[in-house]
Amino acid sequence: MIAKAMAPLVSGNSAVRAMFEEGKALAKKVGAENVYDFSLGNPNLYPPDEVKKAIIDVLETEDPHRVHGYMSNAGFESTREKIAENLNKRFGSSYGMNNIIMVVGAASGLNILLKTVLDIDDEVVVFAPYFVEYSNYVRNYYGKTVVVPPNPENGFLPERETFASRITDRTKAVIINTPNNPTGVIYPEETIKMIAEVLEEKEKEIGHPIYLISDEPYRELVYTDAKVPFVPAYYKNSLIAYSFSKSLSLPGERIGYVAIPDSADGAEEFIEAATINNRVLGSVNAPSLMQLAVERCLDAQVDVPYYKKNAEDLYKIVTGAGFTAVKPQGAFYLWVTSPVSDEKEFVQAGKEENIIMVPGSSFAGPGCVRLSFCVSNGMIHRSKDAFDRLGKKYFG
Ligand code: PLP
Repeated sequence: MIAKAMAPLVSGNSAVRAMFEEGKALAKKVGAENVYDFSLGNPNLYPPDEVKKAIIDVLETEDPHRVHGYMSNAGFESTREKIAENLNKRFGSSYGMNNIIMVVGAASGLNILLKTVLDIDDEVVVFAPYFVEYSNYVRNYYGKTVVVPPNPENGFLPERETFASRITDRTKAVIINTPNNPTGVIYPEETIKMIAEVLEEKEKEIGHPIYLISDEPYRELVYTDAKVPFVPAYYKNSLIAYSFSKSLSLPGERIGYVAIPDSADGAEEFIEAATINNRVLGSVNAPSLMQLAVERCLDAQVDVPYYKKNAEDLYKIVTGAGFTAVKPQGAFYLWVTSPVSDEKEFVQAGKEENIIMVPGSSFAGPGCVRLSFCVSNGMIHRSKDAFDRLGKKYFG
């Protein structure tokens, strides 16, 4: 018998996964090369060479006790020191080792931060469409997710009025994700400034801190000359949840960090509590071999130009077939407007052409679908005729 709270999780088990399973079933039927599966955000690129070299170097040069043993719940001092230095060098911040906690990917980082701030019925504001796991994470700590609806007219960017109206005296945190999953949008500086201004005003009004959690697994995946603003430079209560899952193509290795600046309200206590949460949530510490590996290749990146080409090619194919889509600035997703109001119907029509897409309602963005382009460029090109046929169904 499972807990009552699990029932909705079991019945609503991820639509992304469900579409991926459908893609696999279809591949068995019609052959993998004839299926155009854009469902999963699982990077297709190999990790950069530096990662393999770093892992070998760790194994050959470090004491096995250090490589494989327990350590401080916050992670290796050397790793945290190097990450702090790297951030300071790139963004002019002033993190020290103590401000960095190594975690088991952004998923774990977000859980640690939310558990640190949420009391029962506290609220966390998110901007739709959003990575739906946020709601599950908030629910883990008996909090409530408050969703700011999207405005397609302004390119799915947060807007002052609607955002401000969602903040109450129970708001403890706001989560932003830029470059964004699922829209591929990068919030410009004025949006980050607007969010910071609203939060500063609201903090004064309600008399307690509101932490701005910047979920940044796609920070380095940028395809235009758009700059990704460094959020903590604009708001003192900014917390970063970073992951190497996408920048180094290491999602299965479960490695990332959270950064809590000294400027954050109650920073010392916060850092201590967050470190304890690494332990009590059951991770204990981030994978040790991976900590030592990433500290050796903090400036390495996957082949970003490959994703850029995918972004451009898929956008061209999809819009060329008549559909409207947001031109991806970053991350690896194309956000396409469904030509019919029920996007699940559109997803179904896509499946008939062997195109696997994820309905936007899985991201609180009904009326749209998400296509992941962390796939082979060959598959994108092979999908062209299928998209053209799909387009003809709607646009003649
Ligand atoms: N946040 C967003 C927006 C994501 O898209 C993902 C994964 O796809 C995560 C967090 C979780 O990443 P990680 O693998 O680092 O836990």
